[in-house]
Amino acid sequence: MSTIIYVGLGSNEGDREAHLVAALTALSRIDAVAVLRCSSLFDSAPVGPPQPRYLNAVVALDCDLSPQRLLVILQQIEKDLGRRREQHWGPRTIDLDILFCEGQVVADPHLQVPHLELHKRRFALEPLAELSPALLHPVLGMTVKELLGKLAPQDVRRSEATAWPEASLPSNET
Ligand code: AMP
Repeated sequence: MSTIIYVGLGSNEGDREAHLVAALTALSRIDAVAVLRCSSLFDSAPVGPPQPRYLNAVVALDCDLSPQRLLVILQQIEKDLGRRREQHWGPRTIDLDILFCEGQVVADPHLQVPHLELHKRRFALEPLAELSPALLHPVLGMTVKELLGKLAPQDVRRSEATAWPEASLPSNET
């Protein structure tokens, strides 16, 4: 049975948009995964140590894989795109996180879904809200739109895309 899985993408090294597009291309080539929708791009201030600004987006996948199996593939894509893991929260060519699996909670040692930081991060919630504002956080019992409404302002701005696909039209969900 397939699940809708939301993956967050981020880059703050080199040609950030090119890295996001390369990751999207890699995702679209995975057997058992179909890319359903892409958010707009968002330019955001870094969290953690001083480093360049990030470019972020979220994609919705129709996925026939378990979240654990998808994570292994995402980590391989990060490696293939030149991600080095030298510094926790340091600059990265590409960061891929599983944000949400519709209707599922995962609490494994190496994978927690919904992502444990999701509700604190405007750079993840803004693009996710573009795709699915009514998505219910199964642990916190609030929708993505409600979580976003509770967040303090953070420096996250919508950014023009050149190669990234046009964002899907906002959904009718409220
Ligand atoms: P990061 O440095 O932000 O890419 O974090 C990667 C680590 O977070 C990996 O060791 C993963 O096992 C772990 N992790 C836990 N939950 C998630 C998730 N929902 N998505 C991606 N990585 C996760």
